[in-house]
Amino acid sequence: MDSLSEQALLDELHALIRFLYRPALAAKILTAFGESLAAKSDAGDRLAILRHWLDFYQAHKYRKLMRRRRATDAERMSPCSACGYPVSQRHHLWDIATHGENPVTVQLCPNCHELHHLLYNALARDSAYSRKLVRHMLDSGKVAPATLEAIIGWLRAILAYEAENGWLEPYRLTAEWFAAQIGWPAAQP
Ligand SMILES: [Zn+2]
Ligand SMILES: [Zn+2]
Repeated sequence: MDSLSEQALLDELHALIRFLYRPALAAKILTAFGESLAAKSDAGDRLAILRHWLDFYQAHKYRKLMRRRRATDAERMSPCSACGYPVSQRHHLWDIATHGENPVTVQLCPNCHELHHLLYNALARDSAYSRKLVRHMLDSGKVAPATLEAIIGWLRAILAYEAENGWLEPYRLTAEWFAAQIGWPAAQP
């Protein structure tokens, strides 16, 4: 192994540590790391150590990205973007499993949040359970048309994005599919 690959691994490790920790702590870790590496005279030993810690910090980075950030008080106290109810939750339009914690979120009250997830599962998955609940909610007449319109708008955008990336079959975006799955928009008499 040449010193070039050792430098490349070291650069990667430095970048990971800077991503994971605040500057002061990252500097401490990097100094300690540099000292322990310098103490090893064998290049093979140094590479083995580098690889070990790269694996360790990569797993750490992955866990950090998967962890959802806790909503701030200001976020909790911002009104539902769909219906205006005074408290809300962060809904990730880009799901955490695919994208990690990310800023593509919308604030929804618990009811609208549940409706959004049920609609998504009825349209993007073939969940008969979600379809049944959605229809029950919509048939109740308790969901304001403007609220439903807003939620459907985000859904359309996210379904289109997922279809563009090849994660979703395009037919799931069609009006026919919406009508068949969720009975929306209601047929005119
Ligand atoms: Zn709401
Ligand atoms: Zn959600």
